[in-house]
Amino acid sequence: MSGPKTHPWIEKLGVYSAGKSKAAGTAKPVKLSANESALGPSPLAMDAYRNEAPNLFRYPDPVYADLRAALADKYDLEASRIVCGVGSDELLKTACRAYLGPGDEALFVAHSFSMYPIAIKSVGAAAIEVPDVDYKADVDKILTAVTERTKLIFIANPNNPTGTYISRRDVKRLIENISSNILLVYDAAYAEFMDQDDYTDGIELVEHHENVFVTRTFSKLYGLAALRLGWGYAPKNVAETLDKCRDPFNVPSSAQAAGVAALKDTEFEQKVISHTAQWRDWLSTELSSLGLTVIPSVTNFILFRFDDENKSAASANEFLTKRGYILRYYSGQGLDKFLRLTIGTADENEEVIKLLKEFLED
Ligand SMILES: *Cc1c(COP(=O)(O)O)cnc(C)c1O
Repeated sequence: MSGPKTHPWIEKLGVYSAGKSKAAGTAKPVKLSANESALGPSPLAMDAYRNEAPNLFRYPDPVYADLRAALADKYDLEASRIVCGVGSDELLKTACRAYLGPGDEALFVAHSFSMYPIAIKSVGAAAIEVPDVDYKADVDKILTAVTERTKLIFIANPNNPTGTYISRRDVKRLIENISSNILLVYDAAYAEFMDQDDYTDGIELVEHHENVFVTRTFSKLYGLAALRLGWGYAPKNVAETLDKCRDPFNVPSSAQAAGVAALKDTEFEQKVISHTAQWRDWLSTELSSLGLTVIPSVTNFILFRFDDENKSAASANEFLTKRGYILRYYSGQGLDKFLRLTIGTADENEEVIKLLKEFLED
């Protein structure tokens, strides 16, 4: 074969498989497959986005000063140590580019975010999967998997796709027991939904450790997935390194403006939080009473299992898709008995339960 030859690790690299958004024969399917917000974006964020239209010819602020200031203000952070990205996905990859290369190892937990192994392998490092316990990360298992070659550990807390979380105590035990030359990437994409006393959004870790990078996103609670806006917080040395590795104009002005507005709309934020909590309880109860096994969730989605072989997750997925309801079906990752349901609007949630009832009684 002629033509340019890529690195062997790029040749072998898989692509991220996104939650589906189309269903054959349905003009406008209900997409409950990507943990997008049931209530859309905040009206203030939409206004701010529209107001940026006349500035489309300008390059965006390369240091996103307003957005940094708004984040620093809201979460009591040091603005200079905030790094923003094209979704937190970009930040995860930037962390890999900055700290990993061929010959290195990075750890990720089984049944966690499928971008981690892709990001690790994209820079030629080895992606080591650590088993979980009861669909939760297990600190002892992670510590056991660390070798001299380990340079980075990914952990999502709360975790996607399981919806579970681990306690502040466990997180502290993890960071206190790894060498300070291993970067802990603490992905807190669902932190905004959390009010549990024993949870940490990771910000406190940044104050006490030099080897942590906390990532957050505007794609979930804030409903701005289309704008691709993520942010992270790190100790000075890590923040400076990541800043060097990112593109100079990586965050569009429209995303910066919408992000600032979204952070200010606390009323909308509260509405999303209570909608999510209310329907998460309702859906979990309904799914359980249909005889399905629900993994207890703290997020805006629910992972549940089909144990009856005659009523498999694959056939449920097909049944729902045909009727215009798209959930997340995992053919891989050892989750082929599961579907993941993103919490939708009241009508959508009721309809999903009605359809599942029909499927199971059929
Ligand atoms: C959705 C999600 C992300 C990615 O968010 P973007 O900011 O849209 O790239 C990262 N981590 C986890 C665990 C997620 O579920």
